[in-house]
Amino acid sequence: MVNLKVSDLMIKIHDKLILDGINIDFKAEKKTAIIGPNGCGKSTLAKMIMNIYKPTSGEIIYHNQDITKLKGEDLRQNYRHIQMVFQDPISAFNPKMKIGNIICEPLLNFKSIKKSQMKEKAKELLRLVELPEDFIDRYPHNLSGGQRQRVAIARALALEPKIIVCDEATSALDVSVQAKIIELLVKLQREKNITYIFICHDLALVSLFSHRIAVMYLGNIVEKIDGDKLIKAKHPYTKALLKAVFSLNNEQNKNIETLSGDIPSPLDLPKGCPFQNRCKYCKDICKQEKPKLKEISVNHHVACHLF
Ligand code: SF4
Repeated sequence: MVNLKVSDLMIKIHDKLILDGINIDFKAEKKTAIIGPNGCGKSTLAKMIMNIYKPTSGEIIYHNQDITKLKGEDLRQNYRHIQMVFQDPISAFNPKMKIGNIICEPLLNFKSIKKSQMKEKAKELLRLVELPEDFIDRYPHNLSGGQRQRVAIARALALEPKIIVCDEATSALDVSVQAKIIELLVKLQREKNITYIFICHDLALVSLFSHRIAVMYLGNIVEKIDGDKLIKAKHPYTKALLKAVFSLNNEQNKNIETLSGDIPSPLDLPKGCPFQNRCKYCKDICKQEKPKLKEISVNHHVACHLF
């Protein structure tokens, strides 16, 4: 079951394939991060929020409408409000199109500007993401990875969406470029009052700027906590992630704690807690009953039989 809210967006999905036990409230104009290992269902969730994938059953309510039921022009118009920035913009861009055309394509598709206004609009959007105006005549392969990601952000901003889903948007970038892209996203959020949903597997990175963090494991939300309280996380999986974060202050002689066991296939999950085969606290009930997400203190939810 998936249950997401972004002020005026609420999602309740029963997806029989990958996602289960998802329940997140996204606060408007805030940054919420969804973190978890590869294959846990983060990107599937992002694509359901974008209405690219349909859940097997359930609903995604936005502006009092179930957007999973939208079709034709109504569905197309909904894309104005929710945009996405992908991990690898080069595969999202048409290599034969100039940057100016790439940025303005959504505006032309929605007839928000005329062709004669394209150049000026592209320059304005390039300025917004701190790129030179003359980039409008370049091609994607002429740009560095960081510059391409700025173009992807400019394109996502073109329709003035309320929500931007960043799916591993900085994962492929050099660390110094990552920091600059995050700085840019934070600056743009202040200026444009955007709600961000960050899909990421880097706990250290998201803890720096996220208002809320939801930790996913095998299609389930196992913990939800305020970004500034992450250090107080309780779920054994979140705690293991925190212990695995590298820092310049790490003691060189200290053993790095790693999780034992392999992640089971999402298509063949064990009965009970999805984390049971890797959890050192696993008890009999964990193998029988799946733990429900419970509020253990204000704004702090954990799905674990220890709580
Ligand atoms: Fe570990 Fe049991 Fe908690 Fe799952 S429910 S995380 S197996 S203690």
